[in-house]
Amino acid sequence: MSRSMLPHRTSQRSSLASISFRTSLAVFVSMAVLLVAVSGSSARLQTETLVFTNANVIDGLSAQPLSGATIIVSDGKIQRIGTGTLQAPAGAKVIDLKGKYVIPGLIDAHVHINDFEAARRALISGVTTARSMGVSHFVDVGMRKLAAAGKIDSPEILSAGYHVRPRPADALFIDMPELAGLMRSGVRGPDAMREMGRAMLSRGVNWIKTNATARAGLPNTDPREPYYSEAELAALVEEGAKSSIPVAAHAHGDEGGRAAVMAGVRSIEHGTYLSKETLSIMVEKGTYLVPTIAVVSDLTRPGGDYDNPVLEVRGRHMLPRIRETAALAHKLGVKIVAATDTGYGPNSTLRMSQELEELVHVGLSPLQAIQSATVVAAELVGVADHTGKIAAGFDADLIVVERNPLENIGAIHDLLMVVNNGKIVLNRASW
Ligand SMILES: [Zn+2]
Repeated sequence: MSRSMLPHRTSQRSSLASISFRTSLAVFVSMAVLLVAVSGSSARLQTETLVFTNANVIDGLSAQPLSGATIIVSDGKIQRIGTGTLQAPAGAKVIDLKGKYVIPGLIDAHVHINDFEAARRALISGVTTARSMGVSHFVDVGMRKLAAAGKIDSPEILSAGYHVRPRPADALFIDMPELAGLMRSGVRGPDAMREMGRAMLSRGVNWIKTNATARAGLPNTDPREPYYSEAELAALVEEGAKSSIPVAAHAHGDEGGRAAVMAGVRSIEHGTYLSKETLSIMVEKGTYLVPTIAVVSDLTRPGGDYDNPVLEVRGRHMLPRIRETAALAHKLGVKIVAATDTGYGPNSTLRMSQELEELVHVGLSPLQAIQSATVVAAELVGVADHTGKIAAGFDADLIVVERNPLENIGAIHDLLMVVNNGKIVLNRASW
């Protein structure tokens, strides 16, 4: 995750052995002074300096791990990474990883997190950044701010507010009675799309989420049913673009999905029944696909986020189809991003590791699967300037696993450590 301002720097500066480290530190300090001066902010997070040694680092880009690596972390950032003799700053906590594997913190590009406990569950499952794709009461906007200020242990949240759909949640009208004009007519037609889009923007969202088709997760809806025309969706995209805010479209059926792609949405969520033709247009336009395969397998089982006999039957025919579509999308060159589509509630059994395993099964290499949850996801959600890979100057968002996930992606099921913005939030590695 990222903080909105650069933090307080502690006093290890004079005791650093490395000249180049000191130089980059000086640059960093002057940047910090500048940014704090500009923002006028006094919020500060205290994190100790951590030095991870003997790490096998999968940085998100290289095909092979960097063996015997040292990572120096302070003030929430990766300060240095390398295999040479990196001297530990005095007073730093040194953690010998004994050859275990470090990968970037995961980005879950589709969540419905509702409270602090859910945020913490996501975090300790390795998710250090999460894109909220619809939640009531602007919970995601508030949590984004609390997380950015370091007040809660949470992934960095990208917020979207309410789903833009023909029949919004009742809570929308309770929160925003000024939208009451849309209660009877529903959110239909380009003008209503713009009105609701502007309402979301007025609350400070990072994304606009719309439903281009009906949902799969309700027994009485048909996920193939299109909800909006291209003209309606284009009006929403245009309204968002005025504030540089992208649109993500939930779509299962091809007709609604195609309309969303043509309208210029940045990502299609699910995409179960997308045709080859629509997928080809996505390649041309650079539209991302967030297939959320694992959540469809959750439909097929009792318990979990979905627990309904109608959905179990539906899930059994949707699951092979969404896997087939994701495989074809990958083959055609659509950019694939991993996500759970879970609320990380107390009964949720879905985690990012399951989606990564699904993505490997549909043809991504383990490295590509990791990238779908790190560097590629960072580009999609808009955080590529500060997280999604392990590199100097980036947020210290790291997870540690015992075995090499490039050999077996299943290694990510079993996390030993999670570091969020330089703070250890899970440590099962008390060797
Ligand atoms: Zn969702």
